[in-house]
Amino acid sequence: MSSYPPEISASEGERLTEVAKDWCIAHGLVVRPPPAVVAAGQDPGNILATAVPVTLFPSPFPKLCFDQGAHVQKTYNDLYAAISRDEDFLAQIVKEIGDSDEFTQALWKVHLRVKEEGYVQPLSLGLFRSDYMVHQETPESTPQVKQVEFNTIASSFGGLSAQTSLLHRYLAAAEYGLLANPVIKGATTLPDNHSAKGLAQGIIQAFTAYGEAKAGRQKCVIFLTQDGERNIFDQKHLEYEVSAPPQTIPVFRLPFSEVLQHTRLAEGDGRQLLYTPPQLSHLTFEVAVVYMRCGYGPGDYPSESAWEARYHLERSAAIKCPTVLTQVAGTKKVQQVLATPNTSASAPILHRFLSPATHTTLKDLEATFTNIYPLDTSAAGQEARKLALDPEQCKRYVLKPQREGGGNNIYRSAIPEFLRSKPEEHWGAYILMELITPPPVRNTILRNGNLESGGVICELGIYGTCLWDQNEKDESKVLRWNDMAGYLLRTKGDQSEEGGVAAGFGCMDSVALI
Ligand code: ADP
Ligand code: MG
Ligand code: MG
Repeated sequence: MSSYPPEISASEGERLTEVAKDWCIAHGLVVRPPPAVVAAGQDPGNILATAVPVTLFPSPFPKLCFDQGAHVQKTYNDLYAAISRDEDFLAQIVKEIGDSDEFTQALWKVHLRVKEEGYVQPLSLGLFRSDYMVHQETPESTPQVKQVEFNTIASSFGGLSAQTSLLHRYLAAAEYGLLANPVIKGATTLPDNHSAKGLAQGIIQAFTAYGEAKAGRQKCVIFLTQDGERNIFDQKHLEYEVSAPPQTIPVFRLPFSEVLQHTRLAEGDGRQLLYTPPQLSHLTFEVAVVYMRCGYGPGDYPSESAWEARYHLERSAAIKCPTVLTQVAGTKKVQQVLATPNTSASAPILHRFLSPATHTTLKDLEATFTNIYPLDTSAAGQEARKLALDPEQCKRYVLKPQREGGGNNIYRSAIPEFLRSKPEEHWGAYILMELITPPPVRNTILRNGNLESGGVICELGIYGTCLWDQNEKDESKVLRWNDMAGYLLRTKGDQSEEGGVAAGFGCMDSVALI
């Protein structure tokens, strides 16, 4: 397998570039043009799109590792549904994160406000993505996936990922056999990837479970978006899957900044969320599902009115994806608490949420954890502080705040200085995580029409969808829907610390199972 991906000549690179970029545009593997193009007034009608960065070949990925991630996804869904239902646990998490993290505290306040008057919607929707990298102790040892993080809000790229798998399938069928070093058919397996359909299925399940709208109104789904979103077509693929026949569900995109302007709550106790589309002002829909592709970071809440908008949605009868509770369940602090062995407790913390008797995959799930430490004043926290401040030890770690969306972490040698720049009483808002260093893989990335060849690092994401009842007391009836929903492979140059595609340094990829 050392010959995969094959070496290609400059002219073969040109050929694959031409074929791949056209395929991307023809199949919606695109993003809006960069801000500089828009700022220069070159897209006044907002009609331009540009091919996303992709690898020319699906990256080789151990089948064992892929299967490991896929196998535990439904248990992960179940786990995060259970954490979302455990308000006491989450209250403790928020307390441990502390007041220095104003964003998490503000989120929690939204929950407390709604709790005071009582929630009217017991159902909760999760469109999750669990991210992994391959870890291999020594070249001889069996590779395993280790979890980078678990996303509970705005888990993106499910739309583009399904298309990337199709791009690579197309290239494999039409192009790879023509190369001077042809890729032998059957040497690798390109698994089916139903990420767009799978995520849409979660939304459709929630839409159906919402029940009938009141007063003869029509129901709809709202995709809540950020202003100036470049990654809009990723969301569009999902929208088209939700609104496609036979269900033909009305789907609207609503910028988070316009929530209070275009939605209101129905009179009476039901608190149904009513939406009047600005271009169709003769219509009023009852919103069954609010799917958030925004609201995960402080930047989306520039003023108090943005927090009022979040509160307004949270107290409504629409099914939220996610609720505030589920968003808090997705903090890195929760991931750390799950992964840190609790020597003082009689049973692992996981058993608080999932019983080993009914969840035979619990051990497999635990095997995906890597070492993560608190940076608080506990014994484990004190140990971690020593590691983080040591100029040699720190090189094996990444420091993470409770943030989403990429670009927030502090890596390796930058950690000690960063920590020293913050008051010690704020350190509890961070977690310290061991770096996962996957075995070397090489590939060629097509970005802005140019090819970049070299060592790459791949990050696997497994999507999951889950619909559950927050109030149900009978454990066997809590979950209404639980499914694995396809995968994502994101790849970055091995010199880059972060791999977010939207952030500009990563690219879309798919797996060639080896
Ligand atoms: P975010 O929620 O902002 O995406 P992540 O925890 O996913 O935060 O970190 C962002 C990126 O940093 C990841 O996509 C990965 O490239 C890198 N990264 C994070 N944790 C690790 C780790 N333990 N080992 C190696 N790389 C990591
Ligand atoms: Mg994240
Ligand atoms: Mg991430």
